[in-house]
Amino acid sequence: MSAAFDDLPLAPLQPLALGWLARAGVEVAVLRLDLIDPLISGNKWFKLQGHLRLAHARGAPGVISLGGAYSNHLHALAAAGKRFGFATAGLLRGHPHSNPTVHDLQALGMHLHWLGYAGYRARHQADFWRPWQALYPAWHCVPEGGAGPLGTEGCAQIVTQARAQLAAVGWADYDAWWLAVGSGTTLVGLAQAEAGAHPVHGALAVPPGHGVEGEVEVLAPGTYRLHDASRGGFAKVDPALLAFIQASEAESGLPLEPLYTGKALLALQERVLAGAFVAGTRLIFVHTGGLQGRRGFA
Ligand SMILES: *Cc1c(COP(=O)(O)O)cnc(C)c1O
Repeated sequence: MSAAFDDLPLAPLQPLALGWLARAGVEVAVLRLDLIDPLISGNKWFKLQGHLRLAHARGAPGVISLGGAYSNHLHALAAAGKRFGFATAGLLRGHPHSNPTVHDLQALGMHLHWLGYAGYRARHQADFWRPWQALYPAWHCVPEGGAGPLGTEGCAQIVTQARAQLAAVGWADYDAWWLAVGSGTTLVGLAQAEAGAHPVHGALAVPPGHGVEGEVEVLAPGTYRLHDASRGGFAKVDPALLAFIQASEAESGLPLEPLYTGKALLALQERVLAGAFVAGTRLIFVHTGGLQGRRGFA
């Protein structure tokens, strides 16, 4: 295993030109985590880096993790394994089938195991990993989505990367962050790095009431705001959302996908149109990636 996973590429910070932002006098710069790598895209490299360091330090022969059949996390992990020379195994939710993501996971050399739905629900149980540790001795196990302290620590680098590029968009400072939230790991990483200096707005891709709010409040109390961006369910896609994504892409050139980044930008539009931000507000929108998963909606 090579330690080249330490050389995290710089995500470009770019101005976002959209009529509804200009009319409200709100400025947005996008931190393009989707551009750091063609395969290890989005926030997932930031979340995985600490795990890969630990696996490397322990001489683990491979890394094992779990996710859904369109998982951006497993996709990034499989690509990292191929790139940096370690074996990977993925535990998938549901029953065996193929889609563009699963096809990539196999092509990238990941060992796949389908857990069904009940088997996947057992992932939080204390003895969940035991059979997998027996099957893959000494492999490093990464929790779902790369969550946990190693994940949040890596996401603090998102703040460093953005601050290093403010001059490039002509800003001396910014007022707040806006990003899509799944497990909340990335949001907590930003909020902890900011330590209250700038608020972090999280657009929830998962409906409220699934435990994310509680976890975030324990880890980063009082430094963030959560907004329901789920539109009735995780991965629920409606015509208004798809039309918004299409129009936004055509106008700004920023590619979006419907599960996270599209919903996050739409939730931002709702808040801006409601007058939540005064003219002159400067926001950093984190493009968390996920574009590989968009193929499932083509
Ligand atoms: C995984 C993912 C998220 C959610 O990140 P968390 O740290 O789990 O909140 C957001 N956007 C995209 C595109 C993702 O793939």
